[in-house]
Parts: sequence; structure tokens; C-alpha cells
Amino acid sequence: MLVAAAIFCLAAPSGSGSGTAGFVGSHLVDRLVARGDSVIVVDNLFTGRKENVMHHFGNPNFEMIRHDVVEPILLEVDQIYHLACPASPVHYKYNPVKTIKTNVVGTLNMLGLAKRIGARFLLTSTSEVYGDPLQHPQVETYWGNVNPIGVRSCYDEGKRTAETLTMDYHRGANLEVRIARIFNTYGPRMCIDDGRVVSNFVAQALRKEPLTVYGDGKQTRSFQYVSDLVEGLMRLMEGDHIGPFNLGNPGEFTMLELAKVVQDTIDPNARIEFRENTQDDPHKRKPDITKAKEQLGWEPKIALRDGLPLMVTDFRKRIFGDQDSAAT
Ligand code: NAD
Ligand code: UDP
Ligand code: UDP
Repeated sequence: MLVAAAIFCLAAPSGSGSGTAGFVGSHLVDRLVARGDSVIVVDNLFTGRKENVMHHFGNPNFEMIRHDVVEPILLEVDQIYHLACPASPVHYKYNPVKTIKTNVVGTLNMLGLAKRIGARFLLTSTSEVYGDPLQHPQVETYWGNVNPIGVRSCYDEGKRTAETLTMDYHRGANLEVRIARIFNTYGPRMCIDDGRVVSNFVAQALRKEPLTVYGDGKQTRSFQYVSDLVEGLMRLMEGDHIGPFNLGNPGEFTMLELAKVVQDTIDPNARIEFRENTQDDPHKRKPDITKAKEQLGWEPKIALRDGLPLMVTDFRKRIFGDQDSAAT
């Protein structure tokens, strides 16, 4: 039987102030456990929630270790999915030095581990490596337009360095590696108050608060449903190609268009409130996924208007508990 280790983060209680919702890893674990893998989750619970994986507690094929990847660790596994890193701008800016240590020292440790045990290593990089892109849509061959000294640099330069380390271990130590560049992903189990735009809009609409659109709302993002991403990550891990691969949904929306989808899905009367935008916010982002289509046979299947209601059901339960019908 194949033994796989999913290394990522769960989450601390979101009430803690630093709490987030690392949510991608928990969906990945569900798929790996379902196909019979033994999975070890390594997470410092900075932004994850134990609730996301609690349904696996008691399964002999599942183990969770509270550990910070900035420290070395000894394990024996066949595959390492390296997801550990806060993903929301609010969270990665909270302690930028810690974020870059996680991306650089944390990735180095995971690569050192993979080298020692001969495991295959998959890095979850990001569309942020393209910065504020001058090429649109973004192809993997584009090198990006990144501010090295800005407030987002701990994350985007951190991930760029993580990619460099990954390729250097591949070339220098013959390590089997895979690199995914993930575009904005949403779905159930996202942290409700992590500050990302989809979670903000959905929570705001459900709570009858105004939707906060930053800047003029004309900036674009491309939103991918989490099950599509997990399918892409697993195909990448099992396939023959190193990457990097863009994993994202090419459906591109302005933030005002996203607000309209949220209004149509939850509350047509939800008001929009404009707020000052954050520094260095990328103006547009849309993946070219030709390479993933051709080499992984992968493309996303779930459109925003179909995926959003699934996330809304989850958020409604978590925000209102059993009184969800009263809240609609
Ligand atoms: P998340 O914040 O929900 O999950 C990250 C997890 O990493 C959390 O459980 C957190 O506790 C853990 N973690 C953080 N620092 C750690 C450390 N030093 N040691 C051990 N664990 C640590 O984020 P997510 O959305 O699930 O993202 C998962 C990965 O995918 C991240 O690497 C992120 O950069 C990447 N990614 C996500 C998106 C997206 O839209 N969700 C987009 C691009 C890239
Ligand atoms: N490492 C780890 N677990 C292991 C092997 C290595 O955490 O099973 C860490 C190790 O502590 C080091 C990093 O990975 O900080 C890089 O290891 P490598 O062997 O590549 O480099 P070196 O230790 O020679 O600098
Ligand atoms: N954004 C917004 N309202 C919010 C949160 C974010 O308009 O309440 C905007 C933000 O300025 C950015 C886009 O939505 O242009 C995506 O932001 P997010 O933090 O979700 O992800 P990232 O910037 O990492 O793509």
C-alpha cells in the first residue's frame, strides 16, 4: 500500500486573532485517506483548525503531529505534500519574518527530509510568484513582476525562493520534485475571518453586513473550487512532470463582478462599501492552464456560480449553527 504524508497546516481556533483557516490540506487528506493511504499531518496550527481533520482521529491510517516546519523533523514517508504556510494576506503579513522563515527554512527542512528518505516532494507555490503581472494571462514561462521590498514580499519572494530551493535539490540531489502554482482557491472550511475576498464577501452577505470592495473593484482574480485543486495536486504528485504547473480556474472576475455573484447567491440586497486598497495589490490575475491540460490531463470542472453555494452552506452552518434557516 502506498504511504503518503500530507504536510500542511490545520488551524488554531479562529478566535485567537492569529487564527486562520488552512483549508486546502484537509480536503487533500480526505482524498488520500479515502484511497487508502496512510497520512501524517504535520502542522503548527498557526492558521489551521483541528476541526478540519478531526473526523479522521481514531483511524489507524491517520496521524497528526503538532510541529513547526521551521524546525527539523524526522519521519519515514513516500511522498511529501508541502503546504505549510499562511495563505491569506492578512495572516502572512501578521508576522512577515515568520512567513519568510516558513517559506525558506521550512521548505529547506522538508526538502532535507525528502532527500534523506528518498521521498517525492510537492511544493504548493502560488500565482503570487507572478507579482503584479505584465503578461496576461500568466503562462509558467513568465518570470513575474515582483516588488522585493514590499509588504507582500515575505510571501511572494518567499515562495519564489521555495521554488528555487526545490529546483536546486532536484538538480543537486536528484530529488523527485513537483511544483504547483496555485491560483485563488475557495470552498468549505476556509477560515471565516481570514480576510480573503471570497470568505469576506460570503460572511458579510450572510451577516447582512456590506461587502467591502477594496479600491475601485476593477482588479481581477480567477477563483478555483477546492476539489478541482486537490485533483490537480494529486495528478501532479502521481504524474511524470516536474512543473511548475499553474493550477487555477481561468474564469476571471473583477471584485465587483464577484460581489454580484455573491449577491445573486446569498442576498440580492447586500450593499457594497468601498474601502482603500492594500499596498502592491496585483491588478489582474488569470492562469493559462494549457500546460496542465496537456501534461496532467487536468482542468477545473466547477464554475464559480456552482462552487460558491457549496461554500455558502458550510459558512451558514458555522456562522449560525442550527439557526441557519432563520438567518437566510
Ligand atoms: P491555510 O492558511 O489555510 O493553511 C496553511 C496551513 O499551514 C495552516 O494549517 C497553518 O497552520 C500551517 N502552517 C503555517 N505555518 C506553518 C509552520 N511554520 N509550520 C507548520 N505548519 C504551518 O492556507 P491554504 O489556503 O490551505 O493554503 C495551503 C497552501 O497553498 C499554502 O502553502 C499556500 O501558500 C498555498 N496557496 C493557497 C492558495 C489559496 O488560494 N488557498 C493560493 C496559492 C497558494
Ligand atoms: N532535515 C530534516 N529532516 C531530515 C533531514 C534533514 O528536518 O530527515 C533538515 C536538516 O536539519 C537541514 C535541512 O533539512 O536543516 C537540509 O538538510 P540537508 O541534509 O539537505 O542539508 P544539510 O543538513 O547538509 O545542511
Ligand atoms: N479584496 C476586496 N475586499 C475584501 C478582501 C479583498 O476587494 O474584503 C480584494 C483585494 O484587494 C484583492 C482581491 O480582493 O484585489 C483578492 O484578495 P485576496 O486577499 O482574497 O487574495 P490575493 O490578493 O492574495 O489574491
